[in-house]
Amino acid sequence: MSLRLRVNPITCAGHGLCAELLGEHITLDEWGYPVIADAPVPPGLKKLARRAATDCPALALLLVKEP
Ligand code: SF4
Repeated sequence: MSLRLRVNPITCAGHGLCAELLGEHITLDEWGYPVIADAPVPPGLKKLARRAATDCPALALLLVKEP
């Protein structure tokens, strides 16, 4: 089972914290909103991905299980 990160664009406030925590998988667009890599979270980044999701001040970053 793999994990994928999703952003809720309605609640995301563009803090950019997620990209700071997980720069290997999340970049910011020109307005400071996150762009998630179009791939499952690499196994070595799962712990950081969980932290990015729980630390998001707007709780806009979701970690979704994929079959
Ligand atoms: S930390 Fe949360 S609110 Fe901030 S840019 Fe990332 S997803 Fe959006």
